Amino acid sequence: MRPEVLFPLFAPVTSLPGVGPKIAAALERLAGDRVIDLLWHLPTGVIHRPPTAAIRAARPGTVATLSVCIDAHQPPSAARQPYRVRCSDATGILDLVFFQSRGTYLVRALPVGSVRFVSGMVDVFANKLQMTHPDYIVAQHDAAAIPRFEPVYALTAGLTPLTLGRLANAVLARAPVLGEWLDPAMRRQRHWNSWREALEEAHHPETSAAASAEAKARARLAYDELLATQLAVALSRAYRRSSGARSICNEGRLADAALSALGFRLTEPQTKVIREITTDMAAPRRMLRLLQGDVGSGKTVVALVAMLTAVESGCQAALMAPTEVLAHQHLKTIAPMAAAAGIKVAVLTGRDKGPARRAIYEGLAAGDLPLVIGTHALLEQDLAFNDLALAVIDEQHRFGVHQRLGLAGKGREVDVLVMTATPIPRTLMLTAYGDMDVSSLTTKPSGRRPIDTRVIPAERLEEVIRAINERLDDKAKIFWVCPLVEESSQLDLAAAENRYRHLRTIFGDTVGLMHGRLKNHEKDAVMQAFVTGKLRILVATTVIEVGVDVPDASLIVIEHADRFGLAQLHQLRGRVGRNTREATCILLYDTPLADIARARLSILRETEDGFRIAEEDLRLRGAGELLGTRQSGTPSYRLADPAAHHELLDVARDDVRLIMANDPMLESTRGHALRILLYLFERDTALRYLHSG
Ligand code: ADP
Ligand code: MG
Repeated sequence: MRPEVLFPLFAPVTSLPGVGPKIAAALERLAGDRVIDLLWHLPTGVIHRPPTAAIRAARPGTVATLSVCIDAHQPPSAARQPYRVRCSDATGILDLVFFQSRGTYLVRALPVGSVRFVSGMVDVFANKLQMTHPDYIVAQHDAAAIPRFEPVYALTAGLTPLTLGRLANAVLARAPVLGEWLDPAMRRQRHWNSWREALEEAHHPETSAAASAEAKARARLAYDELLATQLAVALSRAYRRSSGARSICNEGRLADAALSALGFRLTEPQTKVIREITTDMAAPRRMLRLLQGDVGSGKTVVALVAMLTAVESGCQAALMAPTEVLAHQHLKTIAPMAAAAGIKVAVLTGRDKGPARRAIYEGLAAGDLPLVIGTHALLEQDLAFNDLALAVIDEQHRFGVHQRLGLAGKGREVDVLVMTATPIPRTLMLTAYGDMDVSSLTTKPSGRRPIDTRVIPAERLEEVIRAINERLDDKAKIFWVCPLVEESSQLDLAAAENRYRHLRTIFGDTVGLMHGRLKNHEKDAVMQAFVTGKLRILVATTVIEVGVDVPDASLIVIEHADRFGLAQLHQLRGRVGRNTREATCILLYDTPLADIARARLSILRETEDGFRIAEEDLRLRGAGELLGTRQSGTPSYRLADPAAHHELLDVARDDVRLIMANDPMLESTRGHALRILLYLFERDTALRYLHSG
C-alpha cells in the first residue's frame, strides 16, 4: 500500500488549481495524468528576464524587460498586417507587435497613457525596435509577476509557459518532506541537497548549466531514481535466488546426439554459454538468463541444447518467437537435430487450427510432445503443458514482460532463457535486465567474412541497379528493403510495391515482393521461391528484420537508411553474410544528410560489432527508443539520463550491494526511507518480496 505521505503526488492533475479537463488532457499528452508526472517534468532551460534599464539599452535578439509608457494604438490597416502599439520611455521608442490579435483585448491590456512592464524578445524591423507578442504585459504594481529567471518547460498544444510554470510551483508546494534515503556520507561528499531542495532547485534553474542533466540537483534526483531501480532489481533477484526450484541435471545424452548431427563444431563462446546455462538449470533455483549474441552468432543451437537438457530430465521445453516466419525457421534448424536425438518437435502458430492444433494441445497436455516452437499462440489460455521446465523466448525485445511471465507461468518453477540479437548496452543492462544473469556470444562462427558496407546517396540508384545486374550473373540473392517512411504501413507498403514494379521492369519475374499484409501461405510461397532461387531479388518491408535466415543471400540494399535506428540497420544487414560468400550492404540515404545521420551511418560502415553499435545508438538516440520502451513494457527512466549519469549507475549498484548486505529487509531508519523511495518511483512491487521472502 502506498504510504499516505505520497497521496498528494499520486493524485490526478485535475486536483491542481485551475486544471480542467482540457488542460488535463494536454498535461497527459505532455507528461502524464498525475501530479507526480509534472513533478518529474523538469525544465529544459531558463530565460533571463532581468529589468532592462531603458529602451535604448535593449539589444535586438535578446530578451528585455522594460517599463514603457503606452502612447498610441495602430490597428492593422489591411488584413495580415499586425496590430501595433507604440510605446516609449525617455530614451526611445518601442513598438509592441501583435499578429491576429483581438483589438478589444489589447485596448484593455494596454490603455493609452498608462505605464506597463513588458518582457519579451526584442528585434529590429524597418529600422524600428519592436517586441512581437510580449511574453508578459503587467501593470506597474504587478512587476513582481515577471520572474527574473523563468524556467523553460517542454510544452504541447494547449499549454502556455505561464500555465506550466504556475502548475510546476503548485506541484512543488505539494511535494512532502521525506526521510533521507541517501547515505549521509555520500550526500556530504557530493554536496547534494535534500530531495525536496533538489526538486526546488531543478525546477528553478538560474543558468542553463543548472537546467542540464549534469547539474547537482538533477544528479541527485537522477541518483534517487537509479537507486530505486537498482534496489528493486536486487530485491527481486534476492527473492528468486532464495526461493527453491528443481534442479535439472543430466549427462546431456540428447544434446550430444543432436550436436553430432550438426555440420559444424560449436564455437568457443557457444560452448561456454551452454555450460553457463546448464549449470544454471542444474542449480536448485530458477534460471532467468539473457543470452545476447549478435545476428548470426548461433543462438538457436544453444537454445536447443538447453531445451534437450530439460527433455532428458523428463520435462518439456518451449521456444517462443515473435513471428511465424521465425518460428518456422527455428523449426527448420531444430527439426533435424531433434530427430537425431530421437525427440519429437512441433510448431504452433496462430494459423494452426482444427485437428492439427488439437493434436499439439493434446500432446503438450499429455506430455507426449516434449518440444514445441511457436509464436504468441503458445500463450493461449487453454494451452497447458504436462510439465514445462524451460521457456526460451527469442528476440525478447519483441515481447512484453507479461508475455515472458505468461509462458513461464505454464509450468512449475520454470527456468527462463531469453535471447536477443540487439545487444544491450551495459548502461541499460542494469536497469532493464538487472534481474537477469547474462551470457554473451561474443564471436560469430568462423569463416564469415566481414560485410562490405557502403553508404550511397539515393541519386545513385542507377549505379546500384547496374551493380545488381553483375551480381545476378553470379547467382547472387538480393534483399531490397523499403522501410517505414511514414508513420503508416499503407505508405510503407506503397513504397515497397513501387520499387517492386520498378525492379520488375528491369529484372523481370526474378523479383518478388514480401510484406506484412500477405496471407501466411503467400508469405511462405514467396520465401520458398527465394530460398530455392526461383526469385533472386526480394523486395521487402521491414518484415525481414528479425532473424530471417537465407544463408546464401549476399547483397542487401536498404532504402532511406538514414531514417532507421542503428540497431535496426544492423539487424537488417545481418540478413546477409551468413555463409562464406562475400557479402555487401548498400545503405541508400536521402540527401541532404544531417550530421547526426551521417555519423550514425558511418558507425555502421566502421564496425559490425553489435555491442559497439548499441552503445553508439544509445549515445545518439537516448534510452527509451533503444529499448523500444512501448513495445517491451520495460520501465524507462523519468529523471536519469543513461548517457549523462552512467557514473552514478555504478555508484548506485555499489550502494545497493551494501544495503542488501546490511539491511536486506529494509528495517533500519534508512531502510524505511528507501521503502518510500521505491513507492515514489513506483518500483514498490519489489517490496512484496520482503514479505513473502
Ligand atoms: P542467431 O544468433 O542470429 O539466431 P542462428 O542461430 O540463426 O543465429 O545461426 C545463424 C547461422 O549460423 C545458422 O545457419 C546456423 O546453422 C549457423 N551456425 C550456428 N552455429 C554455428 C557454428 N558453430 N559454426 C558454423 N555455423 C553455425
Ligand atoms: Mg535467431
